[in-house]
Amino acid sequence: MPSLQCDLNFELGEQKELLRQEIRRLVDRECPRDYIREMDEKEEFPRRVWEKLAEAGYLGIPIDPQYGGVGGDILDMVIVVEEMAKKSASIALTFMMSSCFGAKALAFAGSERQKQELLPRLARGQLMFAISVTEPDGGTDVLNVMKTTARADGDSFILNGAKMWTTCAHLADYMVVYARTNPHAAKKTEGITVFLVDPKTPGVEIRKINKLGIRATSSFAVFYNDVRVPRDNILGRLDYGFYDLLPMLNNERILVAAICLGLAQAAFADALEYAQQRQAFGKPLGQFQAIQHELARTATDIELAKLITYKAAWLQSLGRDCGIEANMAKLVAANAACQAADRGMQILGGYCYSMEFDMQRYWRDARLYRIAPITDEMVLNFIGEKLGLPRSF
Ligand SMILES: Cc1cc2nc3c(=O)[nH]c(=O)nc-3n(C[C@H](O)[C@H](O)[C@H](O)COP(=O)(O)OP(=O)(O)OC[C@H]3O[C@@H](n4cnc5c(N)ncnc54)[C@H](O)[C@@H]3O)c2cc1C
Repeated sequence: MPSLQCDLNFELGEQKELLRQEIRRLVDRECPRDYIREMDEKEEFPRRVWEKLAEAGYLGIPIDPQYGGVGGDILDMVIVVEEMAKKSASIALTFMMSSCFGAKALAFAGSERQKQELLPRLARGQLMFAISVTEPDGGTDVLNVMKTTARADGDSFILNGAKMWTTCAHLADYMVVYARTNPHAAKKTEGITVFLVDPKTPGVEIRKINKLGIRATSSFAVFYNDVRVPRDNILGRLDYGFYDLLPMLNNERILVAAICLGLAQAAFADALEYAQQRQAFGKPLGQFQAIQHELARTATDIELAKLITYKAAWLQSLGRDCGIEANMAKLVAANAACQAADRGMQILGGYCYSMEFDMQRYWRDARLYRIAPITDEMVLNFIGEKLGLPRSF
């Protein structure tokens, strides 16, 4: 008879619970509803919150102590992002971007010189990063349609092309730009080099996109017209940058799931409170079974999203393969957030349409994550392929 002992444990542990309480206190204090709503309306990044996060050391979580960071793991990042997103998905997204495309990209692919120069400044909140991959002709199929090129010229490369949706380009000190350096490469994943480009470099032009959600963190069309980038700014290997940065994608999927988890919980909390307070037919809305069922479904979706998100993060923290779980987490959590906000809109009735209530913001913000950074359809394609089915595209 095998041993009956079971090591399964859903507790995060004292240190991580403490981290959750601390970040929760910080965002509760620094992100009052009126302020976050105002930033959304004005499309302004809440810089003062960023500074507080830097002061308190949160920006150093994804960075090794050797480079001035705190040396946290992906579970720490999930906790921080989840709590941030309950208040502001824009702040959570900006943290995710600097963590993945700054800290993790440098950790996976950066040269020693790049790490020593950039990581300590990133940990102090003095640098921000953006990623510039998607092009006007496509995001899903970007490897086939990529027209941005970089040609060698002495100790530099000259970049030409256009990118769409580069989020944070106005805040970033570096954009992580994917460009084709060898048009004759045998595979579409080869011949791509990744460059660190300062948006203030001559020849870079950014144009803001007027967008539906995540409005406090703007997105841009970026044009690269004969932009000279030093060879030292290559991240990873020449022509093989796509492969060198692949490991950061699991971090991105997991942290996007954490943003959605935060958003779903914010929508649920507001909907529950409203259902308890609002009266109809002489009783609170929450007494109607139709309303209860909507809230019960959301609570269940959140629990499922939490389980898969934390499982993916746990696997990654142990250095284990988490590709399928990270993608599943992003899929489940994005849909949970969309559903939570949509049900919340229904429960609020007419007030859901008022900008005085935050439900419309959760609804607008959550919708992004069924599309970016990867669409639901492509996540399902990826999972299908991992099940052993033939590639469908
Ligand atoms: C607000 C916002 C912020 C973003 N931020 C960034 C950023 O910072 N940096 C960056 O580089 N990009 C960014 N993106 C781009 C994002 O990653 C892309 O929008 C996403 O990858 C989808 O690409 P697409 O928009 O070109 O859609 P398309 O690729 O044109 O897809 C359109 C539809 O067709 C479906 N489809 C395509 N191919 C298949 C297939 N093989 N099987 C099934 N269905 C398929 C898609 O799932 C989708 O439903 C952002 C996008 C938005 C909206």
